[in-house]
Amino acid sequence: GKKVIIIGAGGVGNVVAKKCAMNPAFFSEVVLASRTLKKCDAIAEEAKKIGLPTQIQTRQVDADDVPALVALFTTEKPFMVINVALPYQDLTIMDACLATGVHYMDTANYEPKDVAKFEYSWQWAYQERFKEAGLMALLGCGFDPGVTGVYTAYANKHYFDEMHYLDIIDCNAGDHGKAFATNFNPEINIREITQKGKYWENGQWVEIDAMSIHKPISYPNIGPKESYLLYHEELESLTKNFPSIKRARFWMTFGQAYLTHLEVLQNVGMTSIQPIKFNGLDIVPLEFLKAVLPEPGTLGENYSGQTSIGCQIKGVKDGKDATYYVYNNCHHADCYKEVQAQGVSYTTGVPAMIGAALICEGTWLKPGVYNVEEFNPDPFMELLNVHGLPWNEEVNGELPHEY
Ligand code: NDP
Repeated sequence: GKKVIIIGAGGVGNVVAKKCAMNPAFFSEVVLASRTLKKCDAIAEEAKKIGLPTQIQTRQVDADDVPALVALFTTEKPFMVINVALPYQDLTIMDACLATGVHYMDTANYEPKDVAKFEYSWQWAYQERFKEAGLMALLGCGFDPGVTGVYTAYANKHYFDEMHYLDIIDCNAGDHGKAFATNFNPEINIREITQKGKYWENGQWVEIDAMSIHKPISYPNIGPKESYLLYHEELESLTKNFPSIKRARFWMTFGQAYLTHLEVLQNVGMTSIQPIKFNGLDIVPLEFLKAVLPEPGTLGENYSGQTSIGCQIKGVKDGKDATYYVYNNCHHADCYKEVQAQGVSYTTGVPAMIGAALICEGTWLKPGVYNVEEFNPDPFMELLNVHGLPWNEEVNGELPHEY
């Protein structure tokens, strides 16, 4: 096994740290570092209590601070870093990796704090530097992005000569019992869904008003749920890496109560990222809102119901029309039982552990900056079945989302 440092001790960091600590064959040492040390300590303590084989070590670090990261990596000498802090820290952590010879992985693309702009350009620009340094950066290795890219690569490898239509469908049919909460970092989540929607069609992006296209989609073992067309970052890399795709869309379910809360918050200005003056202080309303909302890591207890995320693809194989649907359903309560997490943190943290395992083993290790769909999907798909996210597939069968 290899030594890893995980940065970020939130909902996802909790899952990644425990999953790594469960798998000493891949990870000989597990260090969890974050801005607030006591969150790392609490996770390490729990891991000990549930009897995980590897003891999680904890460190404090501000990942906005490159010299602090360089000092941490120089002392710890990890093989790689798993970044599950916030997208704002992607570039500082990549810089520190380059300075110290450490491989890199994350689950969300870089965003500048002052504009909600989701694109890979900033991180893809590191390609030559990582290649020259003999280091790897694997981008977007959670569920979506992450598993959705692996699913698409798997479909392409085994079931299509040419993929034409891709729909990623993401349902959370869970109930955490709170009036309003987000399942991952509220600031990042609200930035993502209040921006304009966007999908890929015939070689270009089509922009739509936020949440203006929606329809019921029938998810396996769940049934029909109203699903909204959003922009999601994997659409950018998937349409680039699979240029035969004519149309690519991303759909996500939202409950009516969630949407009503969001609408009110937006109307009163609470989701704005423009700083305002308050009692002489500069306050960003969205950051303040985050401070009053439940933390994603605390939603797990008593969370019922399940998630279902999958890829539905149409194209051709051997001159005939072909369809493929591959998905995972995950129960919130099972995640809580295993690692004291809710399903959204779990479905992100498990693939992050798997991606890191494939890098540590050397199976996916290659200098440069890559998205997951650029690698052989087969070993990743096998590990999903072993480590808690088994998948199902429908080959040329019925599709949940009608065209
Ligand atoms: P949380 O808000 O629960 O956790 C974020 C963690 O990062 C906190 O522990 C926070 O520390 C820490 N952090 C923030 N800023 C810094 C900093 N400057 N230095 C060190 N640590 C810092 O979020 P989640 O765990 O839900 O999400 C983590 C990441 O995973 C996000 O980037 C999110 O976008 C991504 N994600 C990806 C998904 C996918 O499928 N690909 C799905 C869900 C999430 P503190 O507590 O001190 O603030």
